[in-house]
Parts: sequence; structure tokens; C-alpha cells
Amino acid sequence: MNIPTDSAGSVLVVEDEPRLAAVLRDYLHAAGYHSEWVADGARVMEAFHARRPDLVLLDIMLPGRDGVDLCRAIRAISDVPVIMVTARVEEIDRLLGLEVGADDYICKPFSPKEVIARVGAVLRRYRHGQSNPPVAGLAIDEAATRALLHGQALDLTAVEFRLLRTLLGSPGRVWSREQLLDHLYADHRVVTDRTVDSHVRNLRRKLLEAGLEEDPIRSIYGMGYRLEA
Ligand code: CA
Repeated sequence: MNIPTDSAGSVLVVEDEPRLAAVLRDYLHAAGYHSEWVADGARVMEAFHARRPDLVLLDIMLPGRDGVDLCRAIRAISDVPVIMVTARVEEIDRLLGLEVGADDYICKPFSPKEVIARVGAVLRRYRHGQSNPPVAGLAIDEAATRALLHGQALDLTAVEFRLLRTLLGSPGRVWSREQLLDHLYADHRVVTDRTVDSHVRNLRRKLLEAGLEEDPIRSIYGMGYRLEA
């Protein structure tokens, strides 16, 4: 988003109730954020690509395309923070889990002040993670979908890039092969656990060949992989 440099960040507000959207935007504006508003679920991805927001505030019940589906679609291409807005408390585990991948949630009815506090907290957490890479010198350039080691682009396949992004996104977390597969292939094609092993092997080799001093990916026997934090 092209925003003034004094802005606290840009927020894409996805909400089909105009009054609610207006209140949220007023509060965001008062807190120093720039915002864009989309009411129709079918127009969200277009707006996302055009605006490149710093955070997405995503209602679930929407005309056109629902928020859960949209969150998955955003996750497939970006790790931008997403806060889901839901009226159903029982959905929360699923929203924050791997299947949907939201960063946080807000239950309706909410106070706009609470929303602003959450937006601030999620952005701080995200930016802290961005500016303190878990592996020194290794960075993800989200916009260009490439990984950099000491500023030099790594020659990774799309799957290797997604694998590295997933591992870097949650340092210290143990991933099963099945969970990694969910992040590597959006189309649920039939692949085996061995496919993950071979991608991990290739990624390790490329990282070391590119000059990384130590292999950051640990194999956890009987479980899967994790990135050393
Ligand atoms: Ca709604």
C-alpha cells in the first residue's frame, strides 16, 4: 500500500456491514492506521494483491466468498497477519490451526477499542519476528516469493521456498511430514512422506552450499522436522 510514512500500518477491512466497517475504520484512523474497505468476499483477493496491506481484518460471514476460504487463500501466498472476526466461539481452534492459519481472532460483538489493541499486538508480534530472523542472515522476501541468505537470493524451487517459509515462520515448532505437506501443496495432490524428506534434503544442501554455516533443520525421530530457534 502506498501510505504516508507516519502511518502505523495499512489494514484491509473485510466486512459486509457498512456501519460496522465505518466504525472500525474510524477507530483505525484515530489510532494512526490507513485502511481500505472491501464488503464483497469475491473482491478480497483482488484488493489484497492491489493494496498489499500490513494486516487483514477478516469477517467470516461474507457474500461472495467466506472468510475461512479467504484466509486459506491468503495463507497460500503470504504470511501477512490475519485477524478473523467471528460470531462463533466454537470455530476458534480451527481458525487458528493449520487448516486455516489465522493469527488471531475477535468475537462478535466486539468493542472497537479491543480490535485496535489486537491489531497493534499482532502487528508488533509479526514485525518483531520479521526483524529478528530465527536464522541469522536468512530472510524471506514475501513480495518476490524468494529467500535471501546474507542478501543473496537463493535458488529454490517453489516447494522448497514454501518449506523454508513454513519452518522459519514457527522456529522451534516440530512439524510432522503430513503438516508440512499441507503447507507445500495447495492442491492436495497425492504425495508421500518421502517427498517431504527429499525436499528437506535438497533445501539443506542448498542452504549449506549458499554459505550457511550450520544446518538449521533438525530431524526429530518419529515426529518430523523443526527449525532450530
Ligand atoms: Ca458479516
